[in-house]
Amino acid sequence: MTDTSPSAEAAPGLPRLRSALTTFPPYIPGKPPAEVPGLTPYKLSSNENHLPPLPAVLETMAAHAVAPAAYPDDAAAALRRELADRLGVGTDNLVVTTGASELLVALTQITSDATTEAIYPWPSFEMYPQTTGLAGSTRIEVPLRSDGTHDLAAMAAAITEATSLIILCSPNNPTGPVLRDAEVREFLTAVPDHVVVALDEAYWEFANTPGAVDGLELVADHPNVVLLRTFSKAHGLAGLRVGYGVGHPSVIAGLLKAVIPFGVTDLSQAAALESLRHWDEVIDRARQIATIRDGFAAGLRTQGWEVPEAQGNFVWLPLGPLSDAFEDACVAAAIAVRNLGDGVRISIGPPEALDRVLEVAAAFRAEHFG
Ligand SMILES: *Cc1c(COP(=O)(O)O)cnc(C)c1O
Repeated sequence: MTDTSPSAEAAPGLPRLRSALTTFPPYIPGKPPAEVPGLTPYKLSSNENHLPPLPAVLETMAAHAVAPAAYPDDAAAALRRELADRLGVGTDNLVVTTGASELLVALTQITSDATTEAIYPWPSFEMYPQTTGLAGSTRIEVPLRSDGTHDLAAMAAAITEATSLIILCSPNNPTGPVLRDAEVREFLTAVPDHVVVALDEAYWEFANTPGAVDGLELVADHPNVVLLRTFSKAHGLAGLRVGYGVGHPSVIAGLLKAVIPFGVTDLSQAAALESLRHWDEVIDRARQIATIRDGFAAGLRTQGWEVPEAQGNFVWLPLGPLSDAFEDACVAAAIAVRNLGDGVRISIGPPEALDRVLEVAAAFRAEHFG
C-alpha cells in the first residue's frame, strides 16, 4: 500500500509516477452539446446555472479587471468578513478556495495518506475518488440505497481505526436527495471525534425539503465537521472558481497550510463578495430554479420514470444499461446530459431545453419500455 513503488503504467524510459495514480479514473467534465441543424443546442451536463450573473456582479467584475500585475489578497479578508457576517460564524471559521474542488483536495491532503481510509457514498461527486485516491488512502465507497440516498448505517459500519475522512454530499450529486438533519446527527454519534466529516453542500441553496440537514448548525456543534460550499452553482460563478469551507479554527488553520497561496484572484473575490451582497436575489433565483426542477421531475414521473428526490439543480434518471442509449437520444436532440454509466444526470436549464428533454424521454420510453 505504499506509494513509492513504480506505477503500473510506468514504461521503460518514461518518468516514474506514483502508483496511486493507477487506482482512480481521471475527472471527466460534462460534454458540450452536439450541433444539430435547426435546433438550439443546450448544455445540461455540468450543473451550471443557466441564468446570467446578476448585473451588479458583472459591473463589479468589469471594475476589477484592472490590476493583473498585483497578487490578490491571500487572506481574502473582505470576502471572509462578508461571509462571516452572512453565516454568523467567525472569520477564523472560514477558508476561501479556488472552488470547493480545491477545498476537497486540501481537506484530503490534511487528513489522508497511504495509511488511512476514506469513506464516501457512491455514486456521488466524481472528485471524491480522485482526491482520496491521489492522497493514497484506501477508498471505501458505500453504495447508495436504491432511492439514491446515503446508506448512513453502512457508512457508520465501515468506520475503522484507520478512518480519517468521511464525505457526505447533500444534496447528493448526481442522484439528488438531501440528508435529513436527524439522521446526520445520529450518524455523527457513531463517528469518532478525531475523524473529519466533510459535508459537501455545493447545492444547498436549491434544497426545499423540510428537515434537510443544516450544515452551519452541525459545524457549530461538531468540531470535526467541515462544510464545503461554492459560488459555482447558485451564484452562477463557476467560471470564476470560488468556494469556501466552514469549520473549526483548528481545521481551518490546517487547510490554510494546504491551499495554494493567492489561488483566488482579485476579480473572483470581488465578484463573490458582490454576489453575497445580493444574497436575497441569489436565493430567490435558486428557488426559481428549484421550482422549475420540481416541475421537470414531476413531468418525468408522470411519464413513468422513477426519479429520486431531486434537490439540486439537476435530476437523475437511474437508467442502468440504457444510459448510453438515452444519452445518444439527447445528443441527437442537441442536448448534452451527463452519462455516468449507471444513470444520466440532467441539469436544470431553460424551459425550452427541459421541454425537449421531456419529449426525448417520452419517445425513449415508448421505444424501450413499450
Ligand atoms: C460542483 C460541485 C462542487 C464544487 O465545484 P467548484 O466549482 O469547484 O466549487 C463540489 N461538490 C459537488 C458535489 C459539486 O457538484
